[in-house]
Amino acid sequence: MLEIAPFVLGPVQTNAYLIADPSTREAAVIDPAWDGQIILAEALARGWRIAHLWYTHAHFDHIGGAGAIADGLNPLPLVALHPSDHLLWRMEGGAPAFGFKIDPGPEPTLDLHQGQRLRLGSIDLEVRATPGHTPGHCVFYVPGSRVCFCGDLIFRASVGRTDLPGGDWEQLVQSIRTQIFTLPDDTRLLSGHGEETTVGREKRSNAFVGESALSPG
Ligand SMILES: [Zn+2]
Ligand SMILES: [Zn+2]
Repeated sequence: MLEIAPFVLGPVQTNAYLIADPSTREAAVIDPAWDGQIILAEALARGWRIAHLWYTHAHFDHIGGAGAIADGLNPLPLVALHPSDHLLWRMEGGAPAFGFKIDPGPEPTLDLHQGQRLRLGSIDLEVRATPGHTPGHCVFYVPGSRVCFCGDLIFRASVGRTDLPGGDWEQLVQSIRTQIFTLPDDTRLLSGHGEETTVGREKRSNAFVGESALSPG
């Protein structure tokens, strides 16, 4: 059974998720947002071994804690990112443009792609490619737990911005409709910012992509 330790970290209150299969103690960090030592300390306290860093996308506020986490681990964690965000990763996730400097940590060596299966102990995760907020944005769906880690694709009552380099509104809407609204309604959506929500709730009431936005006129 998947266990989730959530954090809100960094200058723009980014959600980072330390997740594990407690039976094997194997852990991953989805979006090590900031202050990696805090995430590292929590893993240590729980007796979990962080083996993976999985990125929904390469914006600096989602990867800013990676260097500090990697500094505390031996062997180094395996870093996974969609190749369409590699360029953004090499630009420190846009940090300089916002006046920040980050240590991006180890280079991503596992290329994420649509339909890919990731394993964490006995837990299965499915990668869904969801461009729009960035070209290489992905979400991580855990069918066995009805949870989807959805980064900056969709939020409670909102959606990801598309005005940054590589953003595309049409793609964002398409990604939400084909990759999020096709999940069971009771699926929990754990976003990159703000409170959690569900697929059903956003389908019904999200003003940008929900049913009211779909109705003609
Ligand atoms: Zn972002
Ligand atoms: Zn973000």
